[in-house]
Amino acid sequence: MSKDGSLGYLTTRLQDAINWGRKNSLWPLPFGTSCCGIEMMATLASDYDMARFGAEAIRFSPRQADLLIVAGIINTKMAPILKTVYDQMSDPKFVISMGACASSGGIFNVYSVLQGIDTTIPVDVYVPGCPPAPEGLLNALLRLQDKVARGDTHSQRRMAEAAKGNIARL
Ligand code: SF4
Repeated sequence: MSKDGSLGYLTTRLQDAINWGRKNSLWPLPFGTSCCGIEMMATLASDYDMARFGAEAIRFSPRQADLLIVAGIINTKMAPILKTVYDQMSDPKFVISMGACASSGGIFNVYSVLQGIDTTIPVDVYVPGCPPAPEGLLNALLRLQDKVARGDTHSQRRMAEAAKGNIARL
């Protein structure tokens, strides 16, 4: 009840309530391959404490995770494995590309290194830098939470289009 005596109402769309729950309960799967992986570990440890944002339930099984954090160099040979891991994650699923190597190949402009994981899987948020600081990953997590709340990630948009019948349901 408000100060003037009128009854207050909490109104929201069901989808907004679901997305609010999703953004505050992300279950990350860390895909750390090199130096950026160390920064990711620091982000999860007590100094930076990613748990403050509801994303502390680290899972090493893709079937139990909805946030893939790719941190480090991805070799061309690893690309099919990364794709398989992504495909096995539950929908809706989100991807953060951490660091120059994951996002663009970084300084490794050679045939054996993937020139950006977005050539293989959809990426929702990129973290710039070499290496990015833990603050960068936390900032990316906040940006991702904003997108999840709006239903504006690749996975959520695909699910929405599938629900309308515009594309095939996977
Ligand atoms: S971006 Fe820099 S710190 Fe990160 S994996 Fe590449 S070389 Fe290492």
